[in-house]
Amino acid sequence: VTTDGVTIQLMANIQLPEDVELAQEQGALGIGLYRSEFLFLQKSPQLPQEEDHYQVCRALAEKVNPHEAIVRTLDIGGEKYYHAVLERDEANPVMGLRAIRFCLRRKDIFRTQLRGILRASVHGKIRLMFPMISSLQEFRQARAVLEEVKEELRREGTSFDEKMPLGIMIEIPSAATIADLLAREVDFFSIGTNDLIQYCLAIDRGNESVAYIYEPFHPAILRMLKFVVDSAIAAGIPVGICGEMAGNPFSIVLLLGMGLRQLSMHSATIPSIKAVIRTLSIEESREILKGAMEFETGPEIEKFIRGRILDRLPDSFSPPVA
Ligand code: PEP
Ligand code: MG
Repeated sequence: VTTDGVTIQLMANIQLPEDVELAQEQGALGIGLYRSEFLFLQKSPQLPQEEDHYQVCRALAEKVNPHEAIVRTLDIGGEKYYHAVLERDEANPVMGLRAIRFCLRRKDIFRTQLRGILRASVHGKIRLMFPMISSLQEFRQARAVLEEVKEELRREGTSFDEKMPLGIMIEIPSAATIADLLAREVDFFSIGTNDLIQYCLAIDRGNESVAYIYEPFHPAILRMLKFVVDSAIAAGIPVGICGEMAGNPFSIVLLLGMGLRQLSMHSATIPSIKAVIRTLSIEESREILKGAMEFETGPEIEKFIRGRILDRLPDSFSPPVA
């Protein structure tokens, strides 16, 4: 809770349902990102069956109750996780057939996962989210598959949560730029800054040689984030963030200033992020954001924020090197 009484919901990013306990111990109120691709890794070289998806998502929903769990559909490919079903010979896999693109190509795999998640949705509060959406037509295609699967379940008499919200990750610059258009059709946004920074700055997030260009405080990133949050607020849909920026104590002030109230991060960072939030007011966050946006480069912005935030970090926290 900020010094002026605004509650910020901190959630956890997890890979396995077993991670929920640790997340709860650290103070997470719900799961903001369940990276479902880890189930595929566990089962590899086999593919998970509908029952596997169902059991995992059911366990997740039940453990997280009364809070919610945001389940992301398969985000395989790119720099992430090899699986036998992927075509390995792509020259540039980060921009290749991955995530939702792969699911739209392999609808059999996608439908199996959707059936399992939908069936699990009656056991708690699940929100569903598609990764790597780059356009409205891509979202509509994916939603159409979901609708077909729902219709199939209805015909069979299998129950699921008819009101399960359907959102998207905003992690490709094209999606961020048309956030106002997307906001008319999706139920919520979750901003994935790890990929958004990678694609916006044309920098491979796993390549150490160019890691110095990986700048969360680049004005281009801040402008994009602000546009996405403004678009969601204008459309009246929830917006959260689940990229690493949510767990960075220096970016928190900017995120609060922009209007974000739901932040999802690695469990281990929750206590220090809480400590920083407790020292901030929304008014001050807006003022720091305004000041930050007046600088012209990422390093200047970061220096400015460090100057305002550094003394509020808990002693146990060692700040990342600038
Ligand atoms: C992101 O891209 O910011 C994100 C949260 O997803 P992942 O790190 O799994 O790509
Ligand atoms: Mg991502």
